[in-house]
Formats: sequence, C-alpha cells, structure tokens
Amino acid sequence: MTIEILTGQSDQHIHWLSANTGIHQEVIEPWQKLCAAADKQGFNLTIASGFRSFERQLAIWNKKCLGQLVIKDMNNKPVDVFSLSDDEIVQAILTFSALPGASRHHWGTDIDFYDKNALADDQKLQLEPWEYQDNGPFFALTQWLKQHAASYGFYFPYDKYRGGIAAEPWHLSYFPIAEKFETQLTQEKLYDCLQKADIKLRANILMKLAEIYHQYITNIGHNDHG
Ligand SMILES: [Zn+2]
Repeated sequence: MTIEILTGQSDQHIHWLSANTGIHQEVIEPWQKLCAAADKQGFNLTIASGFRSFERQLAIWNKKCLGQLVIKDMNNKPVDVFSLSDDEIVQAILTFSALPGASRHHWGTDIDFYDKNALADDQKLQLEPWEYQDNGPFFALTQWLKQHAASYGFYFPYDKYRGGIAAEPWHLSYFPIAEKFETQLTQEKLYDCLQKADIKLRANILMKLAEIYHQYITNIGHNDHG
C-alpha cells in the first residue's frame, strides 16, 4: 500500500459506483451482500459518502478554519470560529471532521449510510444523530445493522463518544481491509504527509500531532468479531 493510497492522494484502490460515489474495490462484494440482506428486510441501504480524497478533506478543513463552512459543537450548535484560539479551532473541527490524511474515508473501506426508503421525497438527508436514534427515519435500519453487519465484516468505529470524535451512528467500516490501513497509518507517515500540505493551522497541528493521533485517530471502537 502506497502512502498516496493510505492518505487519499490516490484513488487507484477505488471502484466508482457512480460519478461521486466510490468504495474500495475489495469492499464492493461484501457491501453488495450486506445491501441484499438489508433489502430482504425492506431497507434500502444506500451510500451517503464513501471514498473521499485528501484534496476534498483538505478543502473542508481549510474552509472551517476560515469560517467559510460552519463548525458545529456536540449539541449541533454552530461554533463562532473567530472567538476561538488556533488550538481550540483545531479541537473543534476534529470533533466532527477528520484531519486530512487521516480520514477513514480515504481508504474506501468506510461508508456513511442511510435508508433511502425511509426518506420522503421532500426530505433531505442531514447526517445528524437524531435521524439514526429512537424514532428517527433510519433507526430501524441502524438496529438491524447493529445485529447483522458484523457477519458481513462491517462494524461501527464511531459507535459512541470516547472523548475524541463525536458519535457517528451513520459510519460503517469494513473491518478486514480497514484493519490493514489502520496498521499502516502511523503518526510519522501522517506528519510527513501534512508537512507538505497547504493546510491551515499546520504549525498547530504538527506541534500537537501526538495528542491528536491518540485522541482522534486511534481512539475508536473495534470490531469484536475481528
Ligand atoms: Zn463517515
């Protein structure tokens, strides 16, 4: 695995299902099996977001730093970026957005999902926790996945808040391949990658990279069945 594939600077490992949606070529088959099983239960398991490139994650990061894209807090309230110190901005962004180079979406093994059947025609997907919790439109599918996803190799790395990344009940990961990426993504490789990138608050990030690595990158759930 090259550093480019690991950090989203190449999409060689990606199979494109449509112009905007791609996942790792080895995840296609297990994903289709999981979708077929979900379909039998009346769910339309759909990808909201699969592979995301380094460039795309970098654009999100830089816009949030500049106040051009809203940063939300744990209560889903917008944060005033101009009232924060640079270190506080980095922390606030990391609660919901991965550091470019460290997003599991670079790998194509991780998928943000929703149930297309449960959205009315005039309803727009928000990708917010309430949609996946009690009585939310995707609650039933989420419950089904919690029971069955593991037998297809998928699990929820952001199942709950652990003091780093907020819970992301929509985020599934294909364990057999993601595990290989996880092992490869060392702090040193990430440092080299970010050092060369045109990323806002780079000095703050590099200075605190050890803390960030442990609080936001490795501090996740693991597949019990792996
Ligand atoms: Zn995600």
